[in-house]
Amino acid sequence: MATLVVGAGVIGLLTAWMMAEQGRAVVLLEQGEAGREASWAGGGIVSPLYPWRYNAAVTALAHWSQGFYPHLAQTLLAQTAVDPQVYVTGLYWLDLEDEAVALGWANEQRRQLKRLAMPEVRRAVPVLGGGFTSALHMPDVANVRNPLLVEALRTALLRNPNVSLHEHNPVTGFVLDGERVVGVASRQGRIYAENVVLAAGAWSAQLLHQLGLVLPVEPVKGQMILYRCRADFLPAIVLAKGRYAIPRRDGHVLIGSTLEHAGFDKTPTAEALASLKASAVDLLPALGKADVIKHWAGLRPGSPDGIPFVGELAQHPGLWLNCGHYRNGLVLAPASCRLLVDLMNGQAPILDPRPYSPQGRVAVLPCVE
Ligand SMILES: Cc1cc2nc3c(=O)[nH]c(=O)nc-3n(C[C@H](O)[C@H](O)[C@H](O)COP(=O)(O)OP(=O)(O)OC[C@H]3O[C@@H](n4cnc5c(N)ncnc54)[C@H](O)[C@@H]3O)c2cc1C
Repeated sequence: MATLVVGAGVIGLLTAWMMAEQGRAVVLLEQGEAGREASWAGGGIVSPLYPWRYNAAVTALAHWSQGFYPHLAQTLLAQTAVDPQVYVTGLYWLDLEDEAVALGWANEQRRQLKRLAMPEVRRAVPVLGGGFTSALHMPDVANVRNPLLVEALRTALLRNPNVSLHEHNPVTGFVLDGERVVGVASRQGRIYAENVVLAAGAWSAQLLHQLGLVLPVEPVKGQMILYRCRADFLPAIVLAKGRYAIPRRDGHVLIGSTLEHAGFDKTPTAEALASLKASAVDLLPALGKADVIKHWAGLRPGSPDGIPFVGELAQHPGLWLNCGHYRNGLVLAPASCRLLVDLMNGQAPILDPRPYSPQGRVAVLPCVE
């Protein structure tokens, strides 16, 4: 019997791809179109925004993924002719309050991070705004063009005889045999499976609630804007006061992002547009004369400390979680999906799985008589 994956964002798609690459049969169910939610909406920085501010559990996944991304992109390009465009530009952090902490972390983690004098930064990024007084530089940070990454994954899965992808087929509940999860209820009816993987991003808690479980994953809205510039306009990612500019290879520049608790509302707002435009001009004043060509919002799967849930639920054998990647789902995806697949296959895991285990992190709803 197949493994069934619920949700075709980057996490569900990559889980399915990794399982299918190992010869396993996979059924992937998506309520809308694959890869059109957070995994499309994100910026695609292949690093947490301030990596030294995260728990070691997030760092471990991020480091493994960073090493895997070039191989992933090359393999998908060869399989599908869609290039996810992993673009190594480096990242400049401007006017950080915790430079010393950042440098200490980099030293411990053996990451290249150094303080640069502002004239050097301005030579490297001539379009940078004038108000900044200090900078740290990490030269090996990449960004992935996430809409192309999910398109490549979807294309690879559609061509793989081990995979069956059902779009526009929402999962509405789980099928139980005793406590064991043996399938799902969906718009197309019941589908039975050897294992079910919940990878429904910000919507994961809603589904688990039906089993009387409280998963602390909630939607956190993020808005972004896009400019089209000359291909050589911005040579690196720049970041100040929580806002960043990301260059794509063809000159598109993304400015992000807001962090809003607005439930499942994904409407872009005029207020966020004005605020993002102001950040764009602070970082890159020339954008003041450019037009915003797109403005959108996505829902991050917010979780405590941004540590994803990866592993089988003790209360319901057969049900595995791979969700709650919050602000870092694109960078964490390869390691998180590989870890899950290792655990499901009973192979030695790439990382110590304990920090990501759902055990003790998922509460049981009190019984209401
Ligand atoms: C503005 C913004 C900027 C970001 N920038 C970055 C960044 O630079 N770097 C980074 O690493 N991360 C970034 N992120 C975070 C990253 O995008 C997410 O963590 C990641 O995409 C989560 O992937 P996912 O597959 O879990 O969720 P999603 O991509 O949301 O996928 C979940 C899927 O499940 C489907 N689904 C839900 N319920 C059901 C159901 N009942 N039945 C069937 N299907 C269902 C949904 O339709 C959806 O397609 C950003 C996010 C946002 C919003």
